[in-house]
Amino acid sequence: MHYKSKNIYWPYLFKKPNHFIMKKIFIVAIAFLFTACNAQTKTNAVATAKKFAITKTDAEWKKLLTPIAFEVTRKEGTEQAYTGKYWDNHEKGIYSCICCGLELFNSDAKFESGTGWPSFYQPLNKINVLDETDNTYGMDRTKVTCSRCGAHLGHVFTDGPKPTGLRYCMNSVSLSFTKK
Ligand SMILES: [Zn+2]
Repeated sequence: MHYKSKNIYWPYLFKKPNHFIMKKIFIVAIAFLFTACNAQTKTNAVATAKKFAITKTDAEWKKLLTPIAFEVTRKEGTEQAYTGKYWDNHEKGIYSCICCGLELFNSDAKFESGTGWPSFYQPLNKINVLDETDNTYGMDRTKVTCSRCGAHLGHVFTDGPKPTGLRYCMNSVSLSFTKK
C-alpha cells in the first residue's frame, strides 16, 4: 500500500511540473535563497564596516590615489619588481600607508632582499598591520593589510633575516615615505 502510493505520487508530480504544489515549492525555494543571500550581504557589510576605522567607496579611493596605487591597495594588485620608488631607497625615515597615513615601517628594519620590492623584517608596530592567509594563484602566502583602512600592502614570508626571520615584501605604491 505504501509503495503503491509513493510510485503514483512522485511521477505524477514530475510529469506535471506546472502543478500548483511544484509552483509552491519553487516560490518557497526562491524566497529562501533570496533571504539567505540578503542576510549574508548584510553580515559582510557589517563585518567590513567594523573591521576598519577608515572605509571609503572605490570611487572615493580613486579620487585620492594614482591608478596603480588604487589597483594595488584596493584590488590587491602587485607592482612590477624594480619599478617602485622605494626598493632602493636608503634614507632614514618612516613608511606610512598611502591610503590613510598610518605609520607602518621604519627604515631601521629595511634590508636588501634582492627582490626589487622594499622589504622589512618587522613592522613599526605589530597592531598597525594585519596578516591574512592568501591562497590565490595556488600559492600559500600571507598577505599584509593596513589595519586602519584595509589597504593591501604586500605579503610576509618566513625567509627574512634576523632578528625576526620575517620578510615583509611590500609594494612601493602602497607606501609614502617621510624622511627623518
Ligand atoms: Zn591605511
